[in-house]
Amino acid sequence: MPDKYRIIDLSLSIEASNQEFISPRIKFINHKKGANLLGLAGMISEKSFLQTLYNFLLYFLGIKKVSYQDFPNRIGLAWEEVKMGTHAGTHLDAPWHFSPSSDGRPSKTIDQIPLDWCYGKGVVLDLRHKQQREEIEVSDLEAACKKINYEIKEKDIVLIMTGSDKFSHERRYLFEYPGMSKEATLWLLDKGVKIIGTDTWGFDRPFEDMVKNYLRTKNKECLWPAHLVGKEKEYCHIEKLVNLDKIPRPFDFTVACFPINIKSASAGWIRAVAIVE
Ligand SMILES: [Zn+2]
Repeated sequence: MPDKYRIIDLSLSIEASNQEFISPRIKFINHKKGANLLGLAGMISEKSFLQTLYNFLLYFLGIKKVSYQDFPNRIGLAWEEVKMGTHAGTHLDAPWHFSPSSDGRPSKTIDQIPLDWCYGKGVVLDLRHKQQREEIEVSDLEAACKKINYEIKEKDIVLIMTGSDKFSHERRYLFEYPGMSKEATLWLLDKGVKIIGTDTWGFDRPFEDMVKNYLRTKNKECLWPAHLVGKEKEYCHIEKLVNLDKIPRPFDFTVACFPINIKSASAGWIRAVAIVE
């Protein structure tokens, strides 16, 4: 990419300390252990299971064995095993997450999302004045657009900036953020938006508040109202973006947010970036 472009990372790193209800678990296999395991994997024969068993026998007898000591400078290869939810870390929710069908058709899973949705013009709407646990309303979006003198266009990737990424390593990240309302979500989708991103832990208001409201009122509309817009209108949203305040201008930049291709999944992790000319 030529020097005239700047790339701003909008993603959380995946780490065990991430604030999630169930945190990611990462098992690190170091260069020594990795070398030993590779030596063992080298005993697996293409020919037959019996040959593999025979090789393993020779391996454990020490007759046919490759370990870290056999590698140059006794250093083999390192790798990791990660166990985490598809909705942990910065990720894209597919319509399948919201409902089995969307707008009368089977919902797209994350592997079916057209990649051209995930690369396009970005716009940041500054909603940092909103209170924690409050709903982001249509009037908030209208005011934010007016402030930057911008009209939302078809296929814009709209990024909602609340500032809650600033405490993404604290427990309150799970509980303290404003959430999109059903109406505000629809307002964007009616303008032809396919991807809405937010720097909050969740797209709707905090779980605790929605569940509390539902139990008090028994009104089913209290439960994940913005997510469930996806039943009627096909769209995706990004949760847990960071650094939206580092993008030097509110529009006139490009967003790339391609999801990891997990077959039939409801979401995929993304390395979201803003590309600024
Ligand atoms: Zn999600």
